[in-house]
Amino acid sequence: MKLRILEFLNNIQEHNGVSISADLFCTCGNNKFVFSHTGKQTKGILAPYIIKKNKQLILQAKCTCCEKNIEVYNSTIDGSKPKTIEQSIDFLPFIIPKTSADKFKVIIKYNYWPENLKSNGLYSNYFEDCFIYIVENGKETKALIEE
Ligand SMILES: [Zn+2]
Repeated sequence: MKLRILEFLNNIQEHNGVSISADLFCTCGNNKFVFSHTGKQTKGILAPYIIKKNKQLILQAKCTCCEKNIEVYNSTIDGSKPKTIEQSIDFLPFIIPKTSADKFKVIIKYNYWPENLKSNGLYSNYFEDCFIYIVENGKETKALIEE
């Protein structure tokens, strides 16, 4: 199975055949999103801003231009060993409390076992880790999720 959100990734860079990094882009060409999630928000100091709650996490990105919703990460279906645990259905908005910032550009990184990197010539959905970082002024800053 190809990487579920492949059509929303731009500027894909492959590293040593075991990881890729890419910018999240909407199919309309916009790359700023409002995020919501079913996990738990932290202060983002020693942990990423969003962590699992009841062993599950769904992260959704809504395009600030065309309002398309993209399910960026879903712990029950993504990765080489998805967790099949019942999901909380409550989505919470992601807002950085100090600044009230709620629109972000992000970069996504996936780590793979080499044999799982591609499936039928396309990057596969069988990754080991998914890291998403907020990008500010062209630089990646804080982790949104590290799953
Ligand atoms: Zn859009």
